[in-house]
Amino acid sequence: MSRPLAVACLAGLLCAEASAGGGLFGRRLRVVEEPARAQPAAPAEEGKGKPAREEPEDPFAPAKPREEKEEPAEDGQVRIRPIELAKAEKDLPVDTRMDFRLSRIDKPLSTETSALFREAWKAFREQHARVDGAFERLPGAPIALSLTLRQDLGEGRWLADAAWDNPGALAWCRQGSNSAQVIAVLDAAGRPGERREVTALRIGLVEASFVAAIPPAEGRRVRLRRQAFVETAPLADDDPTRQAFQVAVTAGKPLRTVLTQERDCRSCGGVGYLRRKVPGKIQDARDPCPGACDRGKREVGLEVTFRP
Ligand SMILES: [Zn+2]
Repeated sequence: MSRPLAVACLAGLLCAEASAGGGLFGRRLRVVEEPARAQPAAPAEEGKGKPAREEPEDPFAPAKPREEKEEPAEDGQVRIRPIELAKAEKDLPVDTRMDFRLSRIDKPLSTETSALFREAWKAFREQHARVDGAFERLPGAPIALSLTLRQDLGEGRWLADAAWDNPGALAWCRQGSNSAQVIAVLDAAGRPGERREVTALRIGLVEASFVAAIPPAEGRRVRLRRQAFVETAPLADDDPTRQAFQVAVTAGKPLRTVLTQERDCRSCGGVGYLRRKVPGKIQDARDPCPGACDRGKREVGLEVTFRP
Protein backbone atom coordinates (compact mmCIF):
# COMPACT_ATOMS: atom_id res chain seq x y z
CA MET A 1 0.00 0.00 0.00
CA SER A 2 1.34 3.42 -0.85
CA ARG A 3 1.93 5.88 1.95
CA PRO A 4 -0.85 8.36 1.18
CA LEU A 5 -3.17 5.37 1.14
CA ALA A 6 -1.89 4.25 4.53
CA VAL A 7 -2.62 7.70 5.94
CA ALA A 8 -6.08 7.65 4.43
CA CYS A 9 -6.59 4.23 5.98
CA LEU A 10 -5.61 5.47 9.44
CA ALA A 11 -7.71 8.59 8.96
CA GLY A 12 -10.63 6.36 8.08
CA LEU A 13 -10.20 4.71 11.44
CA LEU A 14 -10.60 8.09 13.02
CA CYS A 15 -13.49 9.37 10.98
CA ALA A 16 -15.72 6.33 11.17
CA GLU A 17 -19.05 7.81 12.15
CA ALA A 18 -20.38 6.75 15.49
CA SER A 19 -23.72 5.17 14.77
CA ALA A 20 -25.01 5.06 18.30
CA GLY A 21 -26.99 8.27 17.71
CA GLY A 22 -28.57 10.08 20.61
CA GLY A 23 -27.75 7.48 23.23
CA LEU A 24 -24.05 7.87 22.75
CA PHE A 25 -23.37 9.70 25.96
CA GLY A 26 -26.09 8.14 28.06
CA ARG A 27 -27.87 11.43 28.51
CA ARG A 28 -30.79 13.21 26.95
CA LEU A 29 -29.44 15.56 24.42
CA ARG A 30 -30.34 19.17 24.45
CA VAL A 31 -29.19 19.83 20.96
CA VAL A 32 -28.20 23.32 20.09
CA GLU A 33 -27.05 22.80 16.58
CA GLU A 34 -24.85 25.40 15.05
CA PRO A 35 -25.87 26.52 11.60
CA ALA A 36 -23.80 24.76 9.00
CA ARG A 37 -20.75 26.88 8.32
CA ALA A 38 -21.36 28.05 4.81
CA GLN A 39 -25.00 28.91 5.35
CA PRO A 40 -26.01 32.44 6.21
CA ALA A 41 -26.55 32.84 9.93
CA ALA A 42 -30.06 32.09 11.06
CA PRO A 43 -32.02 35.27 11.86
CA ALA A 44 -32.93 33.94 15.30
CA GLU A 45 -29.25 33.67 16.17
CA GLU A 46 -28.50 37.20 15.13
CA GLY A 47 -31.37 38.48 17.26
CA LYS A 48 -29.59 37.22 20.35
CA GLY A 49 -26.72 39.56 19.71
CA LYS A 50 -24.32 36.79 18.77
CA PRO A 51 -21.67 37.70 16.27
CA ALA A 52 -22.73 36.67 12.80
CA ARG A 53 -21.10 33.36 12.05
CA GLU A 54 -19.71 33.95 8.62
CA GLU A 55 -16.43 32.53 9.88
CA PRO A 56 -13.60 33.84 7.78
CA GLU A 57 -11.55 32.50 10.72
CA ASP A 58 -9.18 30.35 8.74
CA PRO A 59 -8.47 31.56 5.24
CA PHE A 60 -6.10 28.66 4.68
CA ALA A 61 -8.63 25.96 5.38
CA PRO A 62 -9.52 24.02 2.26
CA ALA A 63 -12.91 24.74 0.73
CA LYS A 64 -15.67 22.71 2.31
CA PRO A 65 -17.24 20.00 0.26
CA ARG A 66 -20.83 20.79 -0.66
CA GLU A 67 -22.50 17.88 1.08
CA GLU A 68 -21.28 19.23 4.41
CA LYS A 69 -24.23 21.59 4.38
CA GLU A 70 -26.69 18.76 4.65
CA GLU A 71 -25.68 17.68 8.13
CA PRO A 72 -28.71 16.52 10.03
CA ALA A 73 -29.10 19.05 12.77
CA GLU A 74 -30.89 17.18 15.49
CA ASP A 75 -28.90 14.00 16.10
CA GLY A 76 -26.21 13.45 18.69
CA GLN A 77 -23.71 11.95 16.31
CA VAL A 78 -20.01 12.51 16.48
CA ARG A 79 -18.55 13.80 13.24
CA ILE A 80 -14.83 14.00 12.71
CA ARG A 81 -13.41 15.05 9.41
CA PRO A 82 -9.79 15.63 8.48
CA ILE A 83 -8.81 19.18 7.67
CA GLU A 84 -5.20 18.56 6.96
CA LEU A 85 -3.68 15.11 6.98
CA ALA A 86 -0.15 14.77 8.25
CA LYS A 87 2.36 14.55 5.46
CA ALA A 88 4.62 11.57 5.44
CA GLU A 89 7.86 12.51 7.07
CA LYS A 90 10.72 12.51 4.68
CA ASP A 91 12.98 9.55 4.97
CA LEU A 92 16.66 9.96 5.28
CA PRO A 93 18.01 10.27 1.76
CA VAL A 94 18.62 6.74 0.59
CA ASP A 95 22.23 6.33 -0.36
CA THR A 96 22.34 2.62 -0.97
CA ARG A 97 19.76 -0.02 -1.73
CA MET A 98 20.26 -3.71 -1.17
CA ASP A 99 18.28 -6.90 -1.49
CA PHE A 100 18.52 -8.87 1.69
CA ARG A 101 18.02 -12.57 0.96
CA LEU A 102 16.84 -14.31 4.10
CA SER A 103 18.12 -17.62 2.75
CA ARG A 104 21.65 -16.25 2.59
CA ILE A 105 22.05 -15.02 6.15
CA ASP A 106 25.58 -15.79 7.35
CA LYS A 107 26.42 -17.88 4.29
CA PRO A 108 30.06 -17.65 3.18
CA LEU A 109 30.79 -14.50 1.16
CA SER A 110 27.28 -13.10 1.61
CA THR A 111 26.58 -9.56 2.74
CA GLU A 112 23.50 -10.81 4.58
CA THR A 113 24.86 -11.01 8.11
CA SER A 114 22.76 -11.75 11.16
CA ALA A 115 23.96 -8.47 12.71
CA LEU A 116 22.60 -6.51 9.76
CA PHE A 117 19.39 -8.51 9.88
CA ARG A 118 18.87 -7.65 13.56
CA GLU A 119 19.31 -3.98 12.72
CA ALA A 120 16.98 -4.18 9.73
CA TRP A 121 14.35 -6.14 11.64
CA LYS A 122 14.35 -3.55 14.43
CA ALA A 123 13.94 -0.71 11.94
CA PHE A 124 11.23 -2.62 10.11
CA ARG A 125 9.26 -3.15 13.31
CA GLU A 126 9.47 0.54 14.18
CA GLN A 127 8.33 1.63 10.74
CA HIS A 128 5.41 -0.73 10.25
CA ALA A 129 2.08 -1.69 11.72
CA ARG A 130 -0.10 -4.67 10.98
CA VAL A 131 -3.35 -3.68 9.36
CA ASP A 132 -5.73 -6.55 8.64
CA GLY A 133 -2.87 -9.00 8.92
CA ALA A 134 -0.68 -7.22 6.37
CA PHE A 135 2.39 -5.13 7.14
CA GLU A 136 1.78 -1.44 6.40
CA ARG A 137 4.41 1.24 6.38
CA LEU A 138 3.66 3.95 8.94
CA PRO A 139 3.64 7.45 7.48
CA GLY A 140 5.77 8.88 10.29
CA ALA A 141 7.46 8.23 13.57
CA PRO A 142 5.17 7.57 16.56
CA ILE A 143 5.62 9.80 19.62
CA ALA A 144 4.96 9.26 23.34
CA LEU A 145 1.78 10.95 24.59
CA SER A 146 0.62 11.37 28.19
CA LEU A 147 -3.15 11.45 28.02
CA THR A 148 -5.93 12.36 30.40
CA LEU A 149 -9.14 11.08 28.87
CA ARG A 150 -11.97 13.62 28.88
CA GLN A 151 -14.86 12.47 26.73
CA ASP A 152 -15.62 9.24 24.94
CA LEU A 153 -16.50 9.96 21.31
CA GLY A 154 -17.26 6.35 20.48
CA GLU A 155 -15.34 3.69 18.55
CA GLY A 156 -12.18 4.16 20.58
CA ARG A 157 -12.04 7.91 19.91
CA TRP A 158 -11.46 10.23 22.83
CA LEU A 159 -11.24 13.90 23.50
CA ALA A 160 -8.19 14.05 25.74
CA ASP A 161 -5.70 16.41 27.30
CA ALA A 162 -2.31 15.44 25.99
CA ALA A 163 1.26 16.30 26.84
CA TRP A 164 4.26 15.37 24.75
CA ASP A 165 7.82 16.36 24.22
CA ASN A 166 9.27 17.69 21.00
CA PRO A 167 13.05 17.38 21.04
CA GLY A 168 13.06 19.42 17.85
CA ALA A 169 12.33 17.04 15.03
CA LEU A 170 8.57 17.66 14.87
CA ALA A 171 7.67 20.53 12.58
CA TRP A 172 3.96 20.75 13.51
CA CYS A 173 4.37 21.75 17.16
CA ARG A 174 6.71 23.94 19.10
CA GLN A 175 10.00 22.72 20.46
CA GLY A 176 10.17 21.45 24.03
CA SER A 177 7.23 20.27 26.07
CA ASN A 178 3.77 20.66 24.55
CA SER A 179 0.32 20.28 26.01
CA ALA A 180 -2.96 20.52 24.17
CA GLN A 181 -6.37 19.00 23.88
CA VAL A 182 -6.36 16.38 21.15
CA ILE A 183 -8.50 13.68 19.57
CA ALA A 184 -6.97 10.27 20.24
CA VAL A 185 -7.95 6.90 18.80
CA LEU A 186 -7.10 4.29 21.42
CA ASP A 187 -6.85 0.53 21.25
CA ALA A 188 -8.35 -0.33 24.62
CA ALA A 189 -11.50 0.91 26.33
CA GLY A 190 -11.10 3.67 28.89
CA ARG A 191 -13.10 5.87 31.20
CA PRO A 192 -13.22 9.64 31.58
CA GLY A 193 -10.56 10.99 33.91
CA GLU A 194 -8.23 8.09 33.28
CA ARG A 195 -4.57 8.85 32.69
CA ARG A 196 -2.72 6.87 30.09
CA GLU A 197 0.70 6.76 28.48
CA VAL A 198 0.54 5.77 24.85
CA THR A 199 2.69 5.69 21.77
CA ALA A 200 0.78 7.36 18.98
CA LEU A 201 1.08 8.45 15.42
CA ARG A 202 -0.15 11.88 14.42
CA ILE A 203 -2.82 11.81 11.74
CA GLY A 204 -3.17 15.54 11.24
CA LEU A 205 -5.59 18.32 12.03
CA VAL A 206 -9.26 17.36 12.24
CA GLU A 207 -12.55 19.08 12.90
CA ALA A 208 -14.66 17.28 15.46
CA SER A 209 -18.33 18.05 15.96
CA PHE A 210 -20.12 16.43 18.89
CA VAL A 211 -22.33 17.13 21.87
CA ALA A 212 -20.05 18.01 24.75
CA ALA A 213 -20.48 15.98 27.93
CA ILE A 214 -18.02 18.06 29.93
CA PRO A 215 -17.89 21.70 31.02
CA PRO A 216 -17.84 24.43 29.85
CA ALA A 217 -20.12 23.48 26.93
CA GLU A 218 -21.98 20.61 28.60
CA GLY A 219 -24.99 19.50 26.60
CA ARG A 220 -24.21 21.74 23.65
CA ARG A 221 -22.94 20.74 20.26
CA VAL A 222 -19.38 21.94 19.83
CA ARG A 223 -17.11 22.08 16.85
CA LEU A 224 -13.41 21.88 17.59
CA ARG A 225 -10.24 21.80 15.57
CA ARG A 226 -7.71 19.51 17.14
CA GLN A 227 -4.65 17.49 16.32
CA ALA A 228 -5.53 13.82 16.02
CA PHE A 229 -3.48 10.79 17.00
CA VAL A 230 -3.88 7.07 16.56
CA GLU A 231 -2.40 4.77 19.17
CA THR A 232 0.19 2.52 17.67
CA ALA A 233 2.87 0.22 18.94
CA PRO A 234 5.99 -1.06 17.27
CA LEU A 235 5.51 -4.57 15.98
CA ALA A 236 6.24 -7.13 18.66
CA ASP A 237 9.44 -9.12 18.35
CA ASP A 238 7.65 -12.40 18.90
CA ASP A 239 7.25 -15.67 17.04
CA PRO A 240 3.85 -14.96 15.43
CA THR A 241 5.14 -11.65 14.03
CA ARG A 242 8.36 -13.21 12.75
CA GLN A 243 6.40 -16.02 11.19
CA ALA A 244 3.98 -13.64 9.49
CA PHE A 245 6.96 -11.65 8.24
CA GLN A 246 8.62 -14.73 6.81
CA VAL A 247 5.43 -15.87 5.15
CA ALA A 248 4.97 -12.42 3.59
CA VAL A 249 8.53 -12.32 2.28
CA THR A 250 8.30 -15.86 0.94
CA ALA A 251 5.08 -14.90 -0.82
CA GLY A 252 7.03 -12.19 -2.62
CA LYS A 253 5.62 -9.14 -0.80
CA PRO A 254 8.02 -6.23 -1.34
CA LEU A 255 8.81 -5.46 2.30
CA ARG A 256 11.48 -2.86 2.80
CA THR A 257 12.89 -0.67 5.51
CA VAL A 258 15.37 2.17 5.75
CA LEU A 259 18.31 1.97 8.15
CA THR A 260 20.58 4.73 9.28
CA GLN A 261 24.21 3.98 8.71
CA GLU A 262 27.39 5.87 9.23
CA ARG A 263 29.62 6.06 6.19
CA ASP A 264 32.82 7.75 5.20
CA CYS A 265 32.11 11.07 3.55
CA ARG A 266 32.71 10.95 -0.19
CA SER A 267 33.80 14.57 -0.54
CA CYS A 268 36.74 14.24 1.80
CA GLY A 269 37.29 10.49 1.81
CA GLY A 270 36.44 10.19 5.49
CA VAL A 271 39.10 12.50 6.91
CA GLY A 272 36.84 15.50 7.50
CA TYR A 273 38.87 18.13 5.63
CA LEU A 274 40.50 18.78 2.26
CA ARG A 275 44.22 19.37 1.83
CA ARG A 276 45.37 22.38 -0.14
CA LYS A 277 48.95 22.99 -1.28
CA VAL A 278 50.34 26.30 -0.14
CA PRO A 279 53.24 27.64 -2.24
CA GLY A 280 56.44 27.88 -0.25
CA LYS A 281 55.21 25.74 2.62
CA ILE A 282 55.86 22.10 3.31
CA GLN A 283 52.64 21.50 5.12
CA ASP A 284 49.29 21.60 3.30
CA ALA A 285 46.52 23.81 4.55
CA ARG A 286 43.31 22.08 5.71
CA ASP A 287 40.04 23.35 4.30
CA PRO A 288 36.73 22.38 5.81
CA CYS A 289 34.99 19.61 3.90
CA PRO A 290 32.43 20.93 1.40
CA GLY A 291 30.29 17.87 2.09
CA ALA A 292 29.28 19.26 5.50
CA CYS A 293 30.17 15.97 7.16
CA ASP A 294 30.76 15.24 10.82
CA ARG A 295 34.52 14.64 11.06
CA GLY A 296 34.53 12.62 7.87
CA LYS A 297 31.39 10.63 8.67
CA ARG A 298 27.88 11.15 7.47
CA GLU A 299 24.58 9.46 8.18
CA VAL A 300 23.07 7.85 5.14
CA GLY A 301 20.03 5.73 4.50
CA LEU A 302 20.38 2.11 3.52
CA GLU A 303 17.19 0.76 2.02
CA VAL A 304 16.85 -2.94 2.63
CA THR A 305 14.38 -4.95 0.59
CA PHE A 306 13.72 -8.36 2.09
CA ARG A 307 13.75 -11.30 -0.31
CA PRO A 308 13.22 -15.00 0.30
ZN1 LIG B 1 33.55 15.19 4.34
